[in-house]
Amino acid sequence: MHLDQQTIAVVMMVFFCSTLVIAAGLVFALRASEAGRLWAFGHVLVSAAGLALALSAAGAAGGSGHLGTVGAAAFVAGWLVIYRGVRVYYGVLAHPAALAGAGVIVMGLMVGTTGLPDGPQIALRVVYGVLALVSLATFATLARAGRGRRSIGAPLVLVASLVQLAGFSHAMSLPALGAASVTLFFANPAGSGWVLAPLIATLLGLFGFTVMAMEQIVAHNESGARVDALTGLLNRGALEMSALGLVARWQRDGAPLACLVIDIDYFKQVNDTFGHHAGDAVLREVAHALDNSRRASDVAGRYGGEEFCILCPHTDEQQASALANRILRKVRAIALPAGQGHASVSIGVAQLRGGPGSKEGLWRTLFTDADRALYHAKEHGRDRYVLASSMAAPATARALAPPLLEPTPDLAG
Ligand code: GH3
Ligand code: MG
Ligand code: MG
Repeated sequence: MHLDQQTIAVVMMVFFCSTLVIAAGLVFALRASEAGRLWAFGHVLVSAAGLALALSAAGAAGGSGHLGTVGAAAFVAGWLVIYRGVRVYYGVLAHPAALAGAGVIVMGLMVGTTGLPDGPQIALRVVYGVLALVSLATFATLARAGRGRRSIGAPLVLVASLVQLAGFSHAMSLPALGAASVTLFFANPAGSGWVLAPLIATLLGLFGFTVMAMEQIVAHNESGARVDALTGLLNRGALEMSALGLVARWQRDGAPLACLVIDIDYFKQVNDTFGHHAGDAVLREVAHALDNSRRASDVAGRYGGEEFCILCPHTDEQQASALANRILRKVRAIALPAGQGHASVSIGVAQLRGGPGSKEGLWRTLFTDADRALYHAKEHGRDRYVLASSMAAPATARALAPPLLEPTPDLAG
């Protein structure tokens, strides 16, 4: 299929006008994601550049002239910005200075070669070469950094990069294939079919990048809804969801499941004496101590106010008491303001042993057991842990036994 230059130029104008409007809208729509902003802005540049190139092709055969030069430079700049977005998305070093430097070098070369007889040819080869490299780098970064991540957008961008790479490599190698010279991709008399490659790549890329940015925004919102803003631990809803999952696992494999309920001692006094801000800081430090004490498989959350909960799969009450001891030690190391002593917590420790058959019922029993043990720890002096198995426990109908208390340390200051 061979289309005449004017038809191709008009199609290009309509195409890049449309993507320009879409990309401009996406700059706002994706503003919550840094990579999304870069991708949208990069596509604004690429679309505006495509429009400039199409206008120049319609005006002067072959797309030469200043408009064509500016368009080609903006095209390269746009794809460099898009590539930077890919690196930002995956959290790999974005090399902004190197990418900006590459853009400046390309523009310098284009300006420097304008007066030369072979100038346009050299400039076009540089442009195609850089674009092919950027496509390759985008493909490699996506393939390496995105491996193992589930995404619908990333495979689309991978395909777009490959199409792009094929299109630009073909354009560069036109003289070797018998064409008189390298031409702009839509002023290509040797095979108009290749005109489609950048269009397909741009459309697929625009769609794929948008989906990727939306995926990131949705994931961020979901994790934000699960995390307690003050402490960074799971919030109560997320903790209870995890708890039900762990109880279901306990029902399946029977491996022990322990629960620690932790409450900061005399926290009201901390607020009253040092103010709410200082109280918040102590809350954060205690949460940090809990997070640093647990194993990776343990689930820690803020149950409410100054009360926390840790769930420990594959852990019995005795093993959980080692964790409780670690927490007690770490929290004692948290100094209160103005040298007024240190923070402390009381902990109730329970192990899931049975109870009402439903997941919800079992979780309620486990939490109630740990909470009652916590109450005992408070009653017996605080800054200690109590094992639920050591108490009379109507919830699980265990034998009566005296509370087992962690000896109170000498609280200096
Ligand atoms: P106990 O040793 O018996 O647990 O005494 P307590 O003072 O810690 O217990 P109480 O339940 O009387 O007080 C809990 C306090 O925790 C009261 C509440 O103002 C404070 N609190 C709850 N959530 C927050 C919070 O997000 N920030 C701050 N600064 N304080 C909070
Ligand atoms: Mg308290
Ligand atoms: Mg409390």
